[in-house]
Amino acid sequence: MGKHTSLACSRNRGTNLAADCESRRHPTHVKTLVLWDIDGTLISSGGAGERALVAALRDEFGIVGNLEDIELAGRTDHWIARKVLAKFALPDTTENVSRYLDGYLRWLPGELDNPEARTLPGVRALLGALEERRNVAQGLLTGNLRHGAEIKLSHHRLWAHFQFGAFADDSETRNELGPHAVRRACAHHSVEFAADRVFVIGDTPHDVACGKIIGAHTIAVATGRSTVEELQACGPSATFADLSDTSAVLRVLT
Ligand SMILES: [Mg+2]
Repeated sequence: MGKHTSLACSRNRGTNLAADCESRRHPTHVKTLVLWDIDGTLISSGGAGERALVAALRDEFGIVGNLEDIELAGRTDHWIARKVLAKFALPDTTENVSRYLDGYLRWLPGELDNPEARTLPGVRALLGALEERRNVAQGLLTGNLRHGAEIKLSHHRLWAHFQFGAFADDSETRNELGPHAVRRACAHHSVEFAADRVFVIGDTPHDVACGKIIGAHTIAVATGRSTVEELQACGPSATFADLSDTSAVLRVLT
């Protein structure tokens, strides 16, 4: 995407975006948009998500099994749910997906209460530093369901940093989430964001891909399951072992 191409509001015209786009005529000081992944980037849940999925499988469908051969990192909750249904030969119906994910959300708060769950290095300082900058907006770009994202980030007292985002509720396909996040950022801040002022931060190759597809800069961080080398192979704008060097990350973002 061209350097000064506008990302905001230009996609999916003809739906209900007219009101959102009206706000473009009243630009504010906000110029930079930072979109955050959750698991492996902001927090580690200590395996809470996977345990809640296993518990819901048992509770809802009476199946005791593991999810070891299903790729969870960087995927959306809807995508994962359908893979689990397929693995255990359960009918892939809307009802079963909803039933399974509702069960997962019921188990999630209890599973998050474990000693391994933590906010990842540097995250709290970086969120705080960005919040102090009047020209920066921060949102979520995550494969979590919105309710699941709220449960996880509230547990770590991070939810209040985010007023908008894109979630698994928007699409089963992660690469389709970016435009939803940008559209909500536009609506929330009444401003459009130049493509070269949008940054996607995440811990998997899927995060890098879904940032690139909207023409955003991508910052990869190796605090999930991917190594620095694996992430660099995807060609992100920058790669960090973790986010503990606040100044170094801010130099990339500003
Ligand atoms: Mg992640």
